[in-house]
Amino acid sequence: MSRAPARGGRFAHRLIQWQRAHGRHDLPWQNTRDPYRVWLSEVMLQQTQVSTVLGYYGRFLERFPDVGSLAAASEDEVLALWSGLGYYSRARNLHRCAKTVVEEHHGRFPDSSEALVKLPGIGESTAAAIAAFCFGERVSILDGNVRRVITRWLAFEDDLSKPAAMRALWAEAQALLPGSPKAEDMMAYTQGLMDLGATVCTRNKPLCGKCPLSSDCLGLAGGDPARFPVRTRKLKRQQVRWYLLVRLATFDDARDVRVWLEKRPAKGIWASLQSVPVFEDLEALEAHVQALGEPGDEREVWPPFTHVLTHRDLYLMPHVLRLRSLPTLEGAGQWVALSALETVGLPAPIRGILQRLPEAPGQGQDLAT
Ligand code: SF4
Repeated sequence: MSRAPARGGRFAHRLIQWQRAHGRHDLPWQNTRDPYRVWLSEVMLQQTQVSTVLGYYGRFLERFPDVGSLAAASEDEVLALWSGLGYYSRARNLHRCAKTVVEEHHGRFPDSSEALVKLPGIGESTAAAIAAFCFGERVSILDGNVRRVITRWLAFEDDLSKPAAMRALWAEAQALLPGSPKAEDMMAYTQGLMDLGATVCTRNKPLCGKCPLSSDCLGLAGGDPARFPVRTRKLKRQQVRWYLLVRLATFDDARDVRVWLEKRPAKGIWASLQSVPVFEDLEALEAHVQALGEPGDEREVWPPFTHVLTHRDLYLMPHVLRLRSLPTLEGAGQWVALSALETVGLPAPIRGILQRLPEAPGQGQDLAT
């Protein structure tokens, strides 16, 4: 049985009032009922800060103003625009979802969370956000920020690494919804949960003195609200060591320097992105260089650096090889001009390396970790 319903009405009322007076109102994905725009922002905001998403969101909409233009693009083009946002499966799913909306729903997003969640890459919380914002559906979101607010307010002790606890929390979140809301109340309520989690009920030091829910927050009453949400299973981190072969060749004129890029496999780290060739050990890289290179090619080994992914630490060791003459032997890949890298979907650390080459346009800084 829910622990919340007796207080649910007051919870929702206070949250709606607070959002109208103190919440965020000027983000570019607000004040719209266009499911395409809401969906795009929701996907971009998963695991990414608002400040980072702001630039990407505008650029993406400029190139793909609606779901039809996104569906008609190539995956490479979508990945190129996504480049630097990370978690690239989001971009691939975004593209798949756009195609499904066009092919199976005549280019219109379905108007209920139940139907939305069946689309590729749309989870329950994203479906709920689209349905609440665009169609006024009475349904609760439950992304990371919202889980934090609700588990703290309820002092929800169950371990969220267990699916049963997540289901129970979802039921609590549903019980907290406003009674029979108008569409604009559902929008303010949903936005209020997001805003409170992002700006007041923050991860490490919640600003309880500014919170509209503090008078009956059980987490605060217990003295240590930041211990919620409870999650006992720790992610096991893996260490991965990769040797990167940055092959450079100068084409017709000295300013036309190109780098050899290959498309990554469709699954795994950096799936479907373009990258310089990756080797798991130095021997394999050396054998490749022997097969492709010529005596006299110039070789530089850069200091290794770490790139942190969600479950892994990547130790990256770039080897830069400047070819003395244009190569005759090629594999499955392409020579891409350093001046044209903006149009290519590259993982952030690879882009960082290429931007730091002395040959790169506007070249310059030290290799940062
Ligand atoms: S009172 Fe503090 S812990 Fe409770 S919901 Fe508000 S900010 Fe979060």
